[in-house]
This record gives sequence, C-alpha cells and structure tokens, in this order.
Amino acid sequence: MTFKDLGIIEPILRALEAEGYTQPTPIQEQSIPILLQGRDLLGCAQTGTGKTAAFAIPIIQQLHNAGTGETGKKKVKALVVTPTRELALQIGDSFKAYSKHTAIRNAVIFGGVKQGSQTNALRGGVDVLVATPGRLLDLMQQGFITLRDVEYFILDEADQMLDMGFIHDIKKIIAKLPTKRQSLFFSATMAKEIVELAGKILSGSPERVTIEPKKTTAEKVEQAVYFVQKNDKPKLLIHILEANPNSSTLVFSRTKHGADKIVRVLQRANINAAAIHGNKSQNQRQKALNDFKDGKLGVLIATDIAARGIDVEELALVINFDLPNVPETYVHRIGRTGRAAASGIALSFCNGEEKAYLKDIQKLINQTIPVIDEHPFPDDGTGSV
Ligand code: AMP
Repeated sequence: MTFKDLGIIEPILRALEAEGYTQPTPIQEQSIPILLQGRDLLGCAQTGTGKTAAFAIPIIQQLHNAGTGETGKKKVKALVVTPTRELALQIGDSFKAYSKHTAIRNAVIFGGVKQGSQTNALRGGVDVLVATPGRLLDLMQQGFITLRDVEYFILDEADQMLDMGFIHDIKKIIAKLPTKRQSLFFSATMAKEIVELAGKILSGSPERVTIEPKKTTAEKVEQAVYFVQKNDKPKLLIHILEANPNSSTLVFSRTKHGADKIVRVLQRANINAAAIHGNKSQNQRQKALNDFKDGKLGVLIATDIAARGIDVEELALVINFDLPNVPETYVHRIGRTGRAAASGIALSFCNGEEKAYLKDIQKLINQTIPVIDEHPFPDDGTGSV
C-alpha cells in the first residue's frame, strides 16, 4: 500500500516523499480513506503511530481541493486542539511540512508565552489553527479568533486533556463550533468519560480505528539469562549450540581477543565457527559473513563494532557471551534477531561481575529478563566470578 494508492494528491505526495515517508503506517492506511470521505472518526491511538499525518494529510487534501488559501482572506477552516505546547508545535510542523506545496497556511498558539507573535501570525490569516485550549479561549475572547468558519475539528490526546482538567474549556470551545463540520477525536485510552466526551463531539455514527502501539524489539524478542561463572561460559556455549545445531547463531564478545578464544574452543568441540572483528582482514571478514549468510557457517562470533554491518535475515539466536557495559548495546545486539521473523531468541551469560550490567539493562528495557536455572553450569555464588 502506498500513499498514492490511498488517493493522495500530487503536491502532498511530493511533500511526503521529501519527509522520507515511503509507506503509510497502519493508522494512516485505515483513517485516510474514511476521512477523505468526510466521515467522523474516533481514533484510539498513541503518539508514535503516525496519527498526526493520519489526520493532517486528508485535511490538507480536502482544503486544497476546495481551493483554500488561494484567493481572498484566509479563515480558520481547520482547528486542532491538543493539550500541550510541545504537541501543538509538533502538529504545526507536520502541517507545514505536508502542505508546503499548497497555499495552505497554519499557525500554532499556546499559553505560557506572550501573545504578540501569535496574534501577529493570526492577523496575517491562517487556514489551519493548532491550539492549546486555554490560549485559544483567551484569544477568542479578545476577538483575535472566530471559529465560525471551522469545517474540520480535531481533538487530539483527549485522555490527557481530561487528566489536565481541560474539560470545561473543551466544552466551551465545542459550543462555538458550527454544527456542520467533520470531527476527529483521538485518545490513547477509551475510559467511560472519554467515550462520553466523544459522543458530544462526533456525529451519531463515527468510524472507529484502533491501533495498538508498536512493540519494541525488546518486547518481541524472547530473552533469557544464565548465571554462570566466567570459566564455565565456553562449556555453556557449547552445551547450547549442541542443543540448537540448526540455528544460525550470532555470539557477541566484548573483546577481539575473547572472540578468537571462543572460536578456538568451539573448533575444538567440532563446531564450525568464525570470528569477525577489527583485527581480521577485510577479506576474512567478508568471507565469514558470506558463509554465515549462506548458511555454510552456523556460528559467527562478533564484537559490537564489527557486528554493525551484519544484516542477516532470519537470525534465530543471539548469544551474549559477555554482557555489554552500555545497556543500549544490549538492545542493538538483541535487535539482530527477531527482525524479519516475528520473534527471535536472545540468551545472555552473566557472571558475578556482570550483574550490575544486567541491572542497568533491565532498567533500560523496563523488563526483568527471565533466568534459566536448569543448566549444567549454574553459578552457585562461590568460586571465581
Ligand atoms: P506521530 O504519531 O504523529 O507523533 O508520528 C510519529 C513519527 O512518525 C513522526 O516523527 C512522524 O514524522 C513519523 N511518521 C508519520 N508517518 C510516517 C510514515 N508514513 N512513514 C514514516 N514516518 C512517519
């Protein structure tokens, strides 16, 4: 599915291309056709799903097709109400980017700053107004804004709006809107009072679109940790590789020297493995990588830097022979699996010294990684780390 398939007009397509959007996100795919038909929409979606473009694109398209902004004095035809200054600015930037090849102009207004530059922008005339509720009402009372000509109304982040105590402001704003309009209502959650508010804003039978937030890599990948003494790590690795003989496995080592040592240990156990790291020649690295990609080499040992160029689909298993001391590195490593496939497996070896790293990683990914106790080399807390 492309934006062109959704019937998006050329000036917007060009702008989206410049933004680097090659494909609509799920909420865009579902919402754009509904909105282009002029229907009301109740969207259950969070920031990060592409929801801004899902409403901005069809509104720009409809305004453009109606010749908006091309002649005569500009009037506020579309109003977006959003709870925070940051969101307002972000939405304003999106409208600006997507409408840059049209005559449509937008302005952003929010509280907490002097109103001068905002009222100046309004005097010049705008077609799309993005606003936080308090400042909007304030400037309406002062006569800088009228909602008489609004044809499109978008209430964004409704649940946050209610949490922030904006319900009365919103009711006042709704009361000033023309009854004939297209309305869009977005909220990440749909508690009873949100649905009630939606009922006051939307027409009797709005279309509903629900988008689950995208899972992060850390949620998609099946992870586990083995507590093991440093000296036992090679034996544990052999044990796991022998139990998974057909998986292409990427093993991470913190050091180049460590990577070479792992290769030697595996070769002695008759497991075909090779290492890639900065001390290997370009040819050696390329050969190891090609063999790994072609399935001729089952196990590849890599340092973090060398692993950057590895793009292997259907990598079933990642093993962290050493835990990285930078927690973000862990996320990069495990992102090597579960890329093309729906899920992958990432196993980590953790010795006594590395427990602090494990703690940092769990904090970053906001998950507790399950521990596998049942293995032949458990670290009983005695002996070497
Ligand atoms: P939003 O959920 O509207 O805050 O959007 C989240 C991010 O996704 C923003 O940085 C957008 O620029 C970006 N985005 C929106 N739609 C697309 C798309 N179709 N392709 C790529 N990026 C997109």
